[in-house]
Order: sequence, then structure tokens, then C-alpha cells
Amino acid sequence: MNKKALIAVICAVAAIAAVILIITLPGDKKPYETTGFAMGSAVTVKLYDSEEAAADTAGSILDSIKELDSMISDTLPGSYVSRLNSASVGIQASESFMDLMDRCRVDSVITNGAFDATVGTLSALWANARETGIVPDEKAVAEALGVVGWQQLQIDRDRKLVMKGEGQLIDFGAAGKGAACDAAYDVLRSGSVSAVVTVGGSALVYGNPAKGSFWTIGVRDPDGSENDLKCTLKIKPGENSSAAFISTSGDYERYFESDGKRYHHIIDPVTGYPSDSGLRSVTVVSYVSGFDSDALATAFFVMGEQKALPIAEALGVDVLFIRSDGSVSATEGLEFDPGSRQ
Ligand code: AMP
Ligand code: MG
Repeated sequence: MNKKALIAVICAVAAIAAVILIITLPGDKKPYETTGFAMGSAVTVKLYDSEEAAADTAGSILDSIKELDSMISDTLPGSYVSRLNSASVGIQASESFMDLMDRCRVDSVITNGAFDATVGTLSALWANARETGIVPDEKAVAEALGVVGWQQLQIDRDRKLVMKGEGQLIDFGAAGKGAACDAAYDVLRSGSVSAVVTVGGSALVYGNPAKGSFWTIGVRDPDGSENDLKCTLKIKPGENSSAAFISTSGDYERYFESDGKRYHHIIDPVTGYPSDSGLRSVTVVSYVSGFDSDALATAFFVMGEQKALPIAEALGVDVLFIRSDGSVSATEGLEFDPGSRQ
């Protein structure tokens, strides 16, 4: 398969899974490629290694993502999140689940609550509204909003307990796909094989691109269809980790319209309504953490460009904003080519 055809295949996967990132390939070497399903999304793994070794590594990557999903899914009945959501206050949990809940707390602190994993009651309310097409009344929004608050999350390491506020529902939707990229990185980091892993709107590029010095990532045009790109990013893996984690949040992923107004799936935990911060999409590139790239993309979308920029700078992540007027801006470290439509 030539390079153009491979990109077309990636686009086809993108169309099925509403993936918002399209990755071009490092050079002409044909990668080993496999697809799975976890986190409610297609997972694609591409490895630049011999067929036998790659099949093994890809299997381990998919297994570790599924293991993560079995902890944080809110639809699988036995997951920690499902059990926590049905519990009145707390459950006993493993070290790795406590670590994930800890990351949620940390990212809520960093973003001043714009990322808040306790938004579950609101996500459920707005997911239902997407199905019915009816905007929930103010009382229902206020009720769902009433229990939201990351400050009530508690992790008791000694007693191995994770606790939430009464009535709260935990939702990993804003960080889980990025966390899945971390799981993939944990499998890859002991070896020297170049790889691309995508999980919905999050991606990991690992190792060195065989041709040129950067990976090319497409960012979707919010006004276009799945395969229309607004611009392409040139990503160099981080110096210490050999990895870059990329996540995009956009108002075109899941939404409905009522009276000419768009109600999308990214909720402002202050108002309880879909955020309205003058942005159509936010792409975050972290060189250390997939969880952070995903959580921050959601949080930056909620808080808007001006509040996001100092946080991005302090954390050393790069960001690309697509504004409501269609203009594009990015942090200094991020190279991008505008206007590259496919
Ligand atoms: P993403 O596409 O990564 O921006 O994640 C959006 C999903 O995360 C939504 O479908 C909700 O399940 C959940 N979510 C929405 N708003 C927030 C928020 N402010 N903080 C944390 N999770 C959120
Ligand atoms: Mg996110």
C-alpha cells in the first residue's frame, strides 16, 4: 500500500470513530498495524518493527488499554468507576486506580476546576439531552450542578479508599483516552521501536520519525467533515521521553442544536452548561503525560484562550486554539501549517 493509500485508510478509521487526529507516517517503511476497540473508541496501533515482534507489542498495548478501561469505564458494571458511582461515598481500590484519581485531583487544582471528574451528573443530563434534542430546564441543570465539586474527592492511601461526595458521579471521559496513551507508552518505553497509537481524539507518537525530524499531525476543521484538516502540526517527540501526547477537544464531536444554538459535550463546571469561551477546538501537546494532554484540552476549551495560556506555559505544554471566528493561534513552541485541507 502506498503512503497516500495508507493515509486514506487512517482517514477511514477516523470517519468511523470520529477521531480528530490524523497521523502521517514516518518515511516509506510499512508499519505493522492493528485496530481494537476500548474506551468507547477505535484504538489504532502502528509499530515500525518486524511483524512477529510488533504483533506481540501491539497485543500488550491493547491489553493494557483494556485493563485501564476495565477500571475507569462508567458503563462496565464491575469497574472501579461504576462501583464508586453506585456507592454512597467510597470504595476500596487498587494503587493504580488511586493514582488515576489523584491525577484527576491534581489537574482540577491546576485548572482551577475547569477539568472536574465529578461532572458525571451533568454529563449524564446533557447526554440525555443530545438523545432527545430537548434542552434541560434550569432546575434540572441546577440540581445536577449542585453535587459537582472535585474538592470532595478523597484518596486515603493507608486504608486504600477512594471517596466522593454524596450523589456525585465520576466521569473519566475527558482524560481516559489520554490515559490510554500513557498505558501504551508504558509498554513501549523499554524498547526503541517507533510507534503511533490513537485512541479517539488522543494520540501518542513515540520514537523518531524515520524520514524527516518530525511527525505530522492533522487537526480537523471544525466546520468540515471528518477528513477536512484545518492545519497540520509538526511534532518532535520530547527529548527525555521520546514521546509526544496529543489530544484535541472540539465542539463538533458530540452535540445537538436547538433554536439555532449548539449544545456540545464539554461542560463548564461553573455554569452547568456547555462551555462558551470563544473556541471551536483546543489541541494540547504534552511531552510527558497523555492524561494531562487530554484533561488540559478539555479544561482549556472550558476556560478559554487567555486563562489557558499562562497555565500552558507553566506546565511546558504546547497548545493550538481554533477560535469561533475560524482563526488559529498556537503557543510559540508549536510549528504548524495553516489551511492544509485534504
Ligand atoms: P473531551 O472530549 O476529552 O473534551 O471530553 C469530554 C467528555 O468529558 C464529555 O463527554 C464528558 O463526559 C466529560 N466532561 C465534560 N466536561 C468536562 C469537564 N469540564 N471536566 C471533566 N470532564 C468533562
Ligand atoms: Mg479531554
